[in-house]
Amino acid sequence: MHRRDALKWLGGLAACPLCARSVFADAHWSYEGSDGPQKWGELDPANRVCTVGSQQSPIDIGDTIRAQLAPLKITWDKSCDTIVNNGHTIQLNLGQTSVLGYGNANYRLVQFHFHHPSEHLIGGKSSAMEVHFVHANAGGSLAVIGVLMTAGRTNPVFNRIVSTMPEKEGPPVNADGAINPNGLLPAARGYYRYSGSLTTPPCSETVDWLLLTDPIQVADVDIARFAKLYPMNARPVQKANRRFVLRSA
Ligand SMILES: [Zn+2]
Repeated sequence: MHRRDALKWLGGLAACPLCARSVFADAHWSYEGSDGPQKWGELDPANRVCTVGSQQSPIDIGDTIRAQLAPLKITWDKSCDTIVNNGHTIQLNLGQTSVLGYGNANYRLVQFHFHHPSEHLIGGKSSAMEVHFVHANAGGSLAVIGVLMTAGRTNPVFNRIVSTMPEKEGPPVNADGAINPNGLLPAARGYYRYSGSLTTPPCSETVDWLLLTDPIQVADVDIARFAKLYPMNARPVQKANRRFVLRSA
């Protein structure tokens, strides 16, 4: 990514980091048909890497390499600013003060959003859903913490999200004060790490992927409520090419 593009990217970040329509003109894209994932790279010159990139996400996590990886130092706010149905997913936007310390870098949690079914596979298997916590640092690099979601016990935070999410695409509205992002993390913080991309156009290859090894449980009925709005908003898995996946020891 050129510096100019990185700046352009950062400029749009505050409003809607993964929402291509607000950041890059208005090339429409979707998850099926003539503007589906196979066509994303052709819809706009800014999306070319979706097709020609060699470090695309998501991937199927197969063999991994055990490694001493830095701990995830998560200090997020206990509430969100706004919730939005952006036409691709349900997204929660954060204020300025939620931080991920990772290695020598500090990232800010900008937003999180959901996919149904999961985008990442583990050993060829998908999960019911996946949540992506999108962090950006001052240099324009992204670190996304992914958490797989399986059907089981009710998660009060996810329940509150599906109970208050806007049913139609539209502008952000104030988020319910009980939506605490920390409630969507498993107790254990082991994770897989690999170099990848945004899973939506423009598919920029600027993402340090940190996929937690433990899933969280959410209620079947709450998954169904999300799926009613978004039955399929997961990009198919991409080729690993020469990439390695590290697993925290
Ligand atoms: Zn995502």
